[in-house]
Amino acid sequence: VTERLLPDFAFQGSAHDRMSDVRTDVDFLAECWADPASRVVVVSRGHLAWGSHGGGLALFTPADAPAGERVLLGRADGVVYFAVLSDPAAAKTSDLDLRPLRTIAAALDRLQGSLAVHTVALAQWHERHARCAVCGGVTVPEQAGAVRRCTTCASQHFPRTDPAVIMLVVDDDDRCLLGHNAARDASWYSTLAGFVEPGETLEDAVVREVSEETGVCADEVRYVGSQPWPFPSSLMLGFMAHAARTSISVDGVEITKARWFTRDELRREVEAGELVIPTTVSISGALIQRWYGAALPQRRTD
Ligand SMILES: [Zn+2]
Repeated sequence: VTERLLPDFAFQGSAHDRMSDVRTDVDFLAECWADPASRVVVVSRGHLAWGSHGGGLALFTPADAPAGERVLLGRADGVVYFAVLSDPAAAKTSDLDLRPLRTIAAALDRLQGSLAVHTVALAQWHERHARCAVCGGVTVPEQAGAVRRCTTCASQHFPRTDPAVIMLVVDDDDRCLLGHNAARDASWYSTLAGFVEPGETLEDAVVREVSEETGVCADEVRYVGSQPWPFPSSLMLGFMAHAARTSISVDGVEITKARWFTRDELRREVEAGELVIPTTVSISGALIQRWYGAALPQRRTD
């Protein structure tokens, strides 16, 4: 168990054993699929089947699950979980209540969050990798859906995860830096974030992104936690950083405004509804709350 450096947010900590040792054991996997105690999560185009009774994911028995590509998720409390990747046409005829992961994340318990984020991340990778990146040939799943292999050149392809840094910069007066993203409503401010570039360390990515987006010079970069964010395939790596220089000059493209906030300013503006910040579903909200030191009013926006 690692030290907890952030308040709670969604998709923290795998709650199921991924059973990577049995992925090639076809007989054992067939036995698990034949077991009526096994459960199946159903996903279609990144949307998850939602249960009709009492909320939560719909968990099918293998016999009741709709047709589709079958992948192994793993085991929890003695139950083996699979996911079925249902094609949209089939999903439509089976009358499923399909919901985007982002809209249900806050309603999932730890195990369901763990299964849901694994399912969506894996499903979106399968959907986007039907062709080989080496030769263009058709790829097919193997190892219970953990790998794809090219039917022409035999290259193996592994699920892709794109690292992105997300950071809260704090200055010597203990103010935090938040930016307004051009794609969001005018009152929306959030932590800065960006993808790690090839050949770059995480620390360098933090310093570069802060500089590019706001002109602020960051140092003392400290890792505090991570969040899988499969929209479609990110892993958000959370950092706190210190501002060596505080003057702001936004890039004007991605970030059109950026501001330093004291705790009083942040609380007052959030309470007045003048400022909307991420909820603690995301690691962004957790980073802000960590700095603030207490829960802030939550307004659903994502
Ligand atoms: Zn190939």
